[in-house]
Amino acid sequence: MSYFAPRRDRLRKLLKKNDVDSLLVTNFTNVTYLTGFTGDDSYLLLRRDGETLISDMRYTTQLEEECPGLDLHIRPPGTKMHEVTGGVLEKAKAGRVGIEAESLTVGLLGKLEKAAQNTTFVPTSGLVESLRVVKDKQEVEAIRRAARQAERAFAAVMAGLTPEMTEKQVSADLEHTARRFGAKGLSFTPIVAVGPRAALPHAPPSDHRIGESDFTLVDWGANEHLYMSDLTRVVATGKISGRLQKIHDIVRQAQEAAIEAIRPGKTCEEVDAVARQIIEKAGYGKQFGHGLGHGVGLNIHEAPRLAQNEKNELKAGMVVTVEPGIYLPGWGGVRIEDDVLVTRDGHEVLTNVPKDLGQLVIA
Ligand code: ZN
Ligand code: ZN
Repeated sequence: MSYFAPRRDRLRKLLKKNDVDSLLVTNFTNVTYLTGFTGDDSYLLLRRDGETLISDMRYTTQLEEECPGLDLHIRPPGTKMHEVTGGVLEKAKAGRVGIEAESLTVGLLGKLEKAAQNTTFVPTSGLVESLRVVKDKQEVEAIRRAARQAERAFAAVMAGLTPEMTEKQVSADLEHTARRFGAKGLSFTPIVAVGPRAALPHAPPSDHRIGESDFTLVDWGANEHLYMSDLTRVVATGKISGRLQKIHDIVRQAQEAAIEAIRPGKTCEEVDAVARQIIEKAGYGKQFGHGLGHGVGLNIHEAPRLAQNEKNELKAGMVVTVEPGIYLPGWGGVRIEDDVLVTRDGHEVLTNVPKDLGQLVIA
């Protein structure tokens, strides 16, 4: 489709800067970003004057549908990917070929070097990722769809929650419901953590029942097709205690202040500090043991990181989560998470689920 070519052109501009004639894209997510092809096991060789997608026969039909017009090199059955790729590089007289150092293994590089002896392989880092960090219009729309699917799934599951349900059941319901609303699935196995279990920021769902405590933390997101959303809310499953209300108020205040601070030119650490200072001032600094948020897109966790010592500046088009939390071992944890688009003059919150504990009570 038309918006993939401009992405490849932007990448092409980075070749010269990195002193390479072409880039061998071996990270499948990056291949998807540059071509629209959603299968695996395929590489994109991006040259200054064009590009070739190297794939195999299982994907012929899918390739025609997903990236019509793209130059393809389909390797025959019984051949090896590195041998065929080596042949393509040699035939193209590819010269200095950038490789994605975070993706290509040392073993595979050795095989490629054998198969393409006239090619010089040059490690590069984060070239495609540096483009992916700023989302284009199509990507923002996809993240919006992922947000809608996550919200609808959550609302439907909330309406059917009973104290007898286990964390695993709620987690499975979220996944099933998101699919019914058109999502490919969830962006990750949701965290459904009852009371004390919510003190673990990444608790895997267990057989604990949500009626065992007065609150449950739910961290979930939808994968609409390719793009992800990521949200967290605390659901009241009993009488809201003074302690829960107090901790929740602090986290919410920290989250909303940090969101307010988001605009182009702010650094990631500055936004993190806005939330961190509020939580520290309330006396819970040590109980907020992770960064404030992360980029979200084709991957659930990607650049930028909103965290201490992250000097990068926010740019319009970035989409980040804002998710401060307070975790008290033995009691539980509260985290509130939304997805936020950096706009030209500030920000726009892409997710929309009530935050009031009073509105998140099971029937
Ligand atoms: Zn999350
Ligand atoms: Zn997150």
